Amino acid sequence: MMKKSIRLKVKSSYVKGLKSGFPLITEDTVQNLHHVKEEGTIIELFDERNDFLGKGYYGKQNKGRGWVLTNNAQELIDQSFFEKKLKKAIDFRESFYNDYETTAFRIFNGEGDGIGGLTIDHYNGYYVITWYSEGIYAFKDEIVTSLKQLVKVKGLYEKKRFAVKGKYIEDNDFVEGEEAPSPLIVRENGIHFAVYLNDGAMVGVFLDQRDVRKTIRDQYASGKTVLNTFSYTGAFSVAAALGGAAKTTSVDLANRSRSKTQEQFSVNGLVYEDHDIIVEDVFNYFKYAVRKQLSFDLVILDPPSFARSKKHTFSAGKDYPELLAQAIQITEDNGVIVASSNCSTFGMRKFKEFINQAFEETGFNYKILEEFKLPSDFKTHREFKEGNYLKVVFIQKIK
Ligand code: SAH
Repeated sequence: MMKKSIRLKVKSSYVKGLKSGFPLITEDTVQNLHHVKEEGTIIELFDERNDFLGKGYYGKQNKGRGWVLTNNAQELIDQSFFEKKLKKAIDFRESFYNDYETTAFRIFNGEGDGIGGLTIDHYNGYYVITWYSEGIYAFKDEIVTSLKQLVKVKGLYEKKRFAVKGKYIEDNDFVEGEEAPSPLIVRENGIHFAVYLNDGAMVGVFLDQRDVRKTIRDQYASGKTVLNTFSYTGAFSVAAALGGAAKTTSVDLANRSRSKTQEQFSVNGLVYEDHDIIVEDVFNYFKYAVRKQLSFDLVILDPPSFARSKKHTFSAGKDYPELLAQAIQITEDNGVIVASSNCSTFGMRKFKEFINQAFEETGFNYKILEEFKLPSDFKTHREFKEGNYLKVVFIQKIK
């Protein structure tokens, strides 16, 4: 179906950014954005002299009002456009498709693959599309048709995140094909994970931490006591246990985390009774651990960007140093802290300042052992820094 299209003038201060490839269209970028009424409208952008700058779609999401899709005035945003973008993205993941040990990975990462507001993940033959606006959802037919032409889709699921703040919209997420088993067992570098494709916004594992899990299993876990905070389904704990950890302790506030973590241990042939799974506020747990003089060889910190519990509000951009300072207190001398943040409002440089601040405060020295950013299947856009959100630093505490 042909989409409506509208010509809009870009405010002069945004011309340079768009010319250098910045892909996001915000409320501020253009004049008269209110003239656009319909999600999915094709927006053609021009500068003051009526020179063409780019073409994209209108889609209201948490940040932004749409995305630039092409800088070529002649290019049509049609079925073949989507097919071309998806083909390129899928070809780029060829090594993942050929890796028998890894059956869960991202095949399309929004603006990094040329279409902001759209991600597609692959789970052992099943696919999950996440739509970040009604605007991109307006192209569902073209996108689904393209996907099915390029790969064998056993079953298709979707997550709608087009409410204000990008909040997931509760729905039956199954779209078509065969329904996936519940749980569906996927592999990642030989680690098994139970995932649920039709059970809310999150499926049970965050694919962007794949390289970190492998590193913990292969290089940091053997013989160690491991504390995994904000543990969710315990994916880091399982990786550590498979790497020969003496014991893991997982701490998460959510009730469901206990059974979910037990399940992840079980599907890997591990006995979950050998490990501690604690449902508690991490901040309370830290107090308890300090009081009891507990300490761990490896402490994993992977908090959400924002979290509100009964007693605490945590905002990574403000409170990370304090969180890290607490973790340092219960880390053994020469032990390692894996500090992770997916907060898009600061980058690696700021994160390292936070690390430095926390160690200065607690009076310990430290050494940075490794650093991770997003894995290669989470392709990023050179001009769009917020999309490159993940920062993981392995830090050794030195007395
Ligand atoms: N590290 C996990 C992902 C963390 S997701 C992984 O690699 O799979 C964030 C988790 O933090 C959620 O499971 C949420 O329940 C938990 N959480 C948020 N605030 C918390 C708090 N104050 N104490 C403990 N857990 C918390």
